[in-house]
Amino acid sequence: MTNITLIMGDITEQAVDAVVNAANSSLLGGGGVDGAIHRRGGPEILAECRALRASQYGRGLPAGQAVATTAGRLPARWVVHTVGPVWSGTEDRSETLASCYRESLRVADGLGARTVAFPAVSTGVYRWPLADAARIALSTVRDTPTDSVTEARFVLFGQDAHDVFAEALRTLESGH
Ligand code: ADP
Repeated sequence: MTNITLIMGDITEQAVDAVVNAANSSLLGGGGVDGAIHRRGGPEILAECRALRASQYGRGLPAGQAVATTAGRLPARWVVHTVGPVWSGTEDRSETLASCYRESLRVADGLGARTVAFPAVSTGVYRWPLADAARIALSTVRDTPTDSVTEARFVLFGQDAHDVFAEALRTLESGH
């Protein structure tokens, strides 16, 4: 059973077993969470990402999937890279966003992680509306069974994002 917690902060500062990265398919770095993780985690993470590109992910990591690397110099043991869907007004990509959370938990669980920090995947450069992303993220994590993971910590960047997640969690817990 995974306990869901919400905090406002910077995901690169979380002392957890696994930090989830809102990566892009190339696995070779980007802006937002991805840029911050590679900057603070150092070159070891990128080196493992390059090795993944050279082996099982020659075409990149597809949206909705997840893969782990070292966390380099971050105060965590692993980074779990997942690729969120780009928001679309014409196509419902909710299942792909839910898959990011499910697959990240599955990978973290396989590593024996107990604590996992998540960003609000797809809500930055990929433009997913925050309230809808929060609903999908929280309900998916709540409904995904785990063996080792006991805490899923959502690390929200700023008061607005934190408030939106807190409201979504209240709604989820009240069953509406
Ligand atoms: P995506 O490309 O999946 O949209 P982004 O990294 O652009 O991913 O943004 C995802 C969310 O993470 C956004 O809400 C953004 O404000 C937030 N964010 C950016 N930097 C950090 C950070 N260092 N820690 C936690 N959240 C962050």
